[in-house]
Amino acid sequence: MNKMPLILDVDDSIINSTQSFAECYNLLYKNHTDFAEADWTKCNKYDLSDIAPLQTDPLEIFSSKLFFELVKPFPNAVEVLEALTKHFDIYLCSIGTSQNIKLKLDYIEKTFPFIENILPIVNKHCIMNKSMINMENKIFIDNVASNLFSSNASIKMCYGEVKSWNEEWKGRRCSDMLDMYNKLICIVHGQNRLDNNILNHNILATFHNDIIIK
Ligand SMILES: [Mg+2]
Repeated sequence: MNKMPLILDVDDSIINSTQSFAECYNLLYKNHTDFAEADWTKCNKYDLSDIAPLQTDPLEIFSSKLFFELVKPFPNAVEVLEALTKHFDIYLCSIGTSQNIKLKLDYIEKTFPFIENILPIVNKHCIMNKSMINMENKIFIDNVASNLFSSNASIKMCYGEVKSWNEEWKGRRCSDMLDMYNKLICIVHGQNRLDNNILNHNILATFHNDIIIK
């Protein structure tokens, strides 16, 4: 069976990069006289200056080893992505500085070892535009509107909460990993198949046990 190609963004689409950034910031700046603890849930500026005002260049943290030591996949991301490999040909597509991409590739290999296809884009200033990747006849999921708008993907979906960097996106959305899974299954197989295959926390627990057993 030919599986439909699915291209997934990485930062804040499958891993919680904003949370890791805030944790790095809190460790790095805790002794600064003007320090106030960064709360990742409050971030609504793409450059994170609202929660981390002392950090003048956010790319420094995103390109650090500490960032990749602290960053975690979103809840259920590993299980859901592994389950999706049965239905889709999965590609991860991420933009970063050369140092960020080097560290990210190692992180992906360790955290999502079943992912075989990665499309890294090295871009010194991390301009959010993935239009150099031909996404025709593919599904594309990203948390940043400029990436979605500039892509020629056949089906596009915005991941995560409504934030300043994606509020102008009026198309499809998914709120978390389980929502992403169920919407993707519905898109490729239709509602009837979804009704028989819907993924919820109970099924995910069984699926997780299967992974551990095998
Ligand atoms: Mg992203």
